[in-house]
Amino acid sequence: MLPDIDAVTRDDLMRLIMRYRLKPIKRLSQHFVVDPTVIRDIINHVPNGSKVLEVGTGIGVLTYYLAKVASQVITIEIDGKLMRIAEQVLRGLNNVSLIQGDALRIPWPSVDVLVSNVPYSITSPLIMRIIREGVPMALLTIQREVANRLVSGPGNDDYGRLSIITQCNYSISVLNTYTPDSFYPSPEVYSSLVMMTKKEPCYGDMKVLESTTNILFRHRNRVLRWVLNKYLGPDAVSAVVNAGVDVNTRVRQLGIDELIKIADSLRPFIGSIANHN
Ligand code: SAM
Repeated sequence: MLPDIDAVTRDDLMRLIMRYRLKPIKRLSQHFVVDPTVIRDIINHVPNGSKVLEVGTGIGVLTYYLAKVASQVITIEIDGKLMRIAEQVLRGLNNVSLIQGDALRIPWPSVDVLVSNVPYSITSPLIMRIIREGVPMALLTIQREVANRLVSGPGNDDYGRLSIITQCNYSISVLNTYTPDSFYPSPEVYSSLVMMTKKEPCYGDMKVLESTTNILFRHRNRVLRWVLNKYLGPDAVSAVVNAGVDVNTRVRQLGIDELIKIADSLRPFIGSIANHN
């Protein structure tokens, strides 16, 4: 049994990790939370009584505190060894279900909130799946660089496909940023906690928008005309001009409204777009 969330210390969490003599697997991004602030920040944003899906149980520390505020926690861990430790840490909590598997592959239950101290090796595919599944809310601790990408706008160095597709479907806020020693073993980078809240999508056909951004952002510093011509030919350039978009704009400068116009005018070319994805 762990101390109360208001009382738990870094030493408590380190001691628990040491007790199990863990040999963290780098490939699975096994960095365990030892800074109670990370846990408190997450817990404070999980609505009381909600149904939570957690990705990456680890030894179950975050899961333990989630179970105190959620009505139900379903948690997925790929590593069977960690799962068995988590079973011990979580013993006696009757609102937690543990599932061993790859969170990118197995079906997800429908939940109110997805929570994860994200294994950094799967950050982008996990975010894309959250969007495709239409999860109402997500609280994710991710690399600070990726958090910057999620919130950045046109012209910014971090602006790209992930920013556009995420911002089209979710309101995003960065709640806090943590030093590497908030996790054990420390990752090489700072981490940020982001909250994603589902909103009305900016565009009805996400596949077309994804295909469009996939092509355009291969050459983010080129002008639109050049990229369209290279991959889709002069007719696509004309279609985009007719939609009122300035094809001399550099790809990285295109805002979401312009990208929607472009995606719409490229619909007839979608077959050839799909072949490039
Ligand atoms: N939640 C724990 C914590 O906060 O201490 C662990 C976080 S650690 C950054 C990420 C966890 O995700 C590891 O336990 C790792 O084994 C697990 N993991 C990695 N890839 C996974 C995947 N594809 N599906 C499910 N779990 C995965």
